[in-house]
Amino acid sequence: MEIRRFFVDKSMLQDGKVTLRGDEFLHMTKVLRYKVGFKAVVCLGDGVDNYCTVEEIGKDYAVLSVDESVVADKKNARLTLYAGLLKNNKLDFVIQKAVELGVDRVVPFVSANSAESKFSKERGERIALEAAKQCGSSYLSIVDDLKTIDEVLQDIKGFDKVLLAYEGERHNSLKTSSLTASNVALIVGPEGGFKLGEVDMAKKSGADVITLGRRILRAETASIVLCALTLDKLGELDYD
Ligand code: SAM
Repeated sequence: MEIRRFFVDKSMLQDGKVTLRGDEFLHMTKVLRYKVGFKAVVCLGDGVDNYCTVEEIGKDYAVLSVDESVVADKKNARLTLYAGLLKNNKLDFVIQKAVELGVDRVVPFVSANSAESKFSKERGERIALEAAKQCGSSYLSIVDDLKTIDEVLQDIKGFDKVLLAYEGERHNSLKTSSLTASNVALIVGPEGGFKLGEVDMAKKSGADVITLGRRILRAETASIVLCALTLDKLGELDYD
């Protein structure tokens, strides 16, 4: 039987036992039909896999004993993707791929050329949870509330390195960027791209503006490419 992965808040782990409630409890018992004695991996989102055995199943909770805790994924760098909000829920795809790649946080934003203005954080979190389970991640990526470009320009001042992808850039690229930082932010625009003023403001906030080549990529393509190339440069795509 496949050992399935569940995510709980760290407060649910006490004295070598972990309690599942809510959606994760329902998924374990109603969907996956778990019984006492079944095995599971329970994650607190900290890079540790807790190998557990179901000890008790109540009406609305399950208690598992932790048999072994393994540090499954040590990250040297943290990556945040600021992604322009996209039409037709295309940001769902960006969130899913970002989680699979190991991005720690996805922050949707609206800017002058955004054609969409509504975003459901709960929907984004559900997609991130499912993606983390599917790819066997030991981290649970954060999906933030929708921000404005002005809020993003404030946020990015707290990062060691900020890379903004801009199709108007002709010289700088990831190849010319030094990337030894441990807390990196990436910014990709919406379908309509950035206004030049937004790019200038980002530069003033410390962003390096880079090209992703001569072709105009769809926003979702640009997000995946930029995350993958950056993670690789940070050594986060090595196995150990
Ligand atoms: N403004 C473009 C146009 O008018 O066709 C479209 C923007 S593109 C669809 C969406 C986002 O992807 C851009 O804001 C940028 O962040 C990123 N992007 C796409 N192609 C890129 C490239 N060749 N270099 C850097 N960034 C790119």
